[in-house]
Amino acid sequence: MTLLKKAYGLIGDPVKHSLSPCMQNAGLRSLGIKAKYSLFELTPQQLPQFFRDIKKNKLRGFNVTIPYKEKALAYLDSKSPAARQIGAVNTVVVDAKGKLKGFNSDYQGFMQHLKALKVKPHKVAMIGAGGAARAVCFALGKMKASEVCVYDIDKYRALALVSQFKDTFPSCKLSAVYSIEDMDIAGKDLLVNASPIGMRKDDPCLFKPTDLHDKLFVYDLVYNPAQTKLLALAKAAQIKHSNGLGMLLYQGVISLKYFTGRMPSVTAMQKALEKGVKQL
Ligand code: NAP
Repeated sequence: MTLLKKAYGLIGDPVKHSLSPCMQNAGLRSLGIKAKYSLFELTPQQLPQFFRDIKKNKLRGFNVTIPYKEKALAYLDSKSPAARQIGAVNTVVVDAKGKLKGFNSDYQGFMQHLKALKVKPHKVAMIGAGGAARAVCFALGKMKASEVCVYDIDKYRALALVSQFKDTFPSCKLSAVYSIEDMDIAGKDLLVNASPIGMRKDDPCLFKPTDLHDKLFVYDLVYNPAQTKLLALAKAAQIKHSNGLGMLLYQGVISLKYFTGRMPSVTAMQKALEKGVKQL
């Protein structure tokens, strides 16, 4: 049996149904790297021990998901400027000396997917102001969006997101609103759902058909189910739309590039991801 010299993985809770192992193991194979990408489902009490055991587990890099994207920051030796500005990491690279550096490839994944879809964001309405929304907002600022209007069920979270980024992107008009009606979707060209609404069968659709218009692109970060009620509404109205599977793919590709220093096969990772989605 070949001994695995390096290991990669994903920490979070829950992670059981994550698509990252199939996608990342396909990426590792495409690079000819004999290593395994595994899942680490951790309670908050297990988190400190996980970080103490990194060397023992031969981990060379790992992804971080809910609920540890912010908590992981405290364990790192350094962070990329984007991870610092977003205030969250989803990728941690372990160097040869065991030092940990955090990155945020969620924002890059979103950016890359929008580019692949040929969507140039100008005036944006965004639902949600949590960790994913902060990465999306950072990407939108980088892409020179002129307006981002945020609605979150927790209005203080929306206000905090606006104040977090207003100095980083002074030419982008950031605002927090208290209802979907106040988002002025009629005047926007991109609508992003960065909240978990749509993941569960009994989730409501937050929009009415009359909220949408043909100059709008609808992007839902949710990818399971592949078609949320929001995306079904956009489809029925013949409005361009996408789910978040492409963002998941590109953040994974970028993470693996951080881990290994080499560009994996996007096609191999995409195929594995699409196969994984069908099995969910
Ligand atoms: P999060 O940190 O929990 O943030 C979600 C935010 O949305 C919270 O502030 C939440 O408020 C708010 N919210 C919930 N219901 C709402 C509603 N009806 N209207 C307005 N706001 C509402 O979660 P996250 O990490 O940002 O993730 C958000 C979604 O993005 C998840 O579905 C996740 O799977 C997805 N995601 C996808 C990708 C990808 O690659 N495609 C990457 C990252 C995340 P409360 O906390 O008060 O409920």
